Amino acid sequence: MILFKTQADLSHYLSPLLAMGRSTGFVPTMGALHQGHLSLIAESVARTEITVCSIFVNPTQFNDPADFEKYPSTIEHDIRLLVEAGCHILFLPSVSEIYPNGTGREKKFNLGTLDSMLEGSHRPGHFQGVCQVVYRLLEIVKPGFLFLGRKDLQQCMVIQRLINISGWDIHTVLVPIVREPGGLAMSSRNSRLSVQHKQQAVAISRALMYLQRSIEPGSLDKIIKTAEMMILAAGFDKIDYIVIASSETLEILTEWNGQTSVTGLVAAFIGGIRLIDNMPLGPHEK
Ligand code: AMP
Repeated sequence: MILFKTQADLSHYLSPLLAMGRSTGFVPTMGALHQGHLSLIAESVARTEITVCSIFVNPTQFNDPADFEKYPSTIEHDIRLLVEAGCHILFLPSVSEIYPNGTGREKKFNLGTLDSMLEGSHRPGHFQGVCQVVYRLLEIVKPGFLFLGRKDLQQCMVIQRLINISGWDIHTVLVPIVREPGGLAMSSRNSRLSVQHKQQAVAISRALMYLQRSIEPGSLDKIIKTAEMMILAAGFDKIDYIVIASSETLEILTEWNGQTSVTGLVAAFIGGIRLIDNMPLGPHEK
C-alpha cells in the first residue's frame, strides 16, 4: 500500500493510471477502522483494480466540538488493517491540504429536504460539512466507484444527490451494515462505550428487529412507542429519533400501506455517545 499525504502527490500518481482506463474504487473514512469499513474495502478490492481509502476526520461535519475532539484515532492499527485487506492507496491529508482556504463554507449544496430531516435536524450543518469534504475528495481522487455503508443511510442519499447535482459519472455501491455478534452496528464511536454501555447498546438493534417482526399495514404509532420504550428501558439517556420512513425518500410515515419499502431509523445517546442504526422493515424483510 502506498500512503499519500498531499493532493499533488496522489494526483500525480493516479492521473496516468486513470488515463490508461484503470478502474478505481474509493472508500472515504474517518479512521478508527473496524470490520464495517473493511467490508467496504473488500467490496472495492473485488470490483475495481485500484482501491483508494482516505482517512480524514472532517472538522466541518461535527456540530458538537467535543465529539470532534474525542473522535478516536488509531492510525497505526488502521494502516495494518488496510494492508491486510489489500487496499492499494491510503490518502491521509491534513486539514490544510483539504481546506487550503480555511474551513469556512464557500458553497451551499442544495440537498432539498434531506438537509433538514432526521440527522439533518438534530445535527445542523452536518450534511453541508459532509458534502464539503466529499466534494473535495471526489475532485481529488476522481474514482469510478464510490463505496458507502448503509449504516449511514441518509448520508448515502445525500452523497448520491451531491453526485447527481455535480453531474459526475461515479457509480455508488451501498454496502450492508456489519454488526457485532449481539447485533450492535459497528461504529468507530463504539470504542468510546464502557463494557456495560456496549452491552446495553444492543437495545437499538433489538428494537429495530422488533419493528421488523411487528410491522403490519395500518397505524405505526403503537409499535414505534414500544420500540422507543425498549431503548429507554435498556438505559439510553435520550432518543433523538425513532421513525419508520420510506426507504426511497426517508419521508417519515405514520401509516404503512403494506407495499411501500420501509426502513426503521434510530439515533440515541448512551453514556454521552450518540449511536445511529437502521434496518429495512418490509414488505419483504420478515
Ligand atoms: P466513518 O469512518 O464512520 O465516516 O465511515 C466511513 C464509511 O464506512 C461510511 O460509508 C460508513 O457508512 C461506513 N461504515 C461505518 N460503519 C459501518 C458498518 N458497521 N457497516 C458498514 N459500513 C459502515
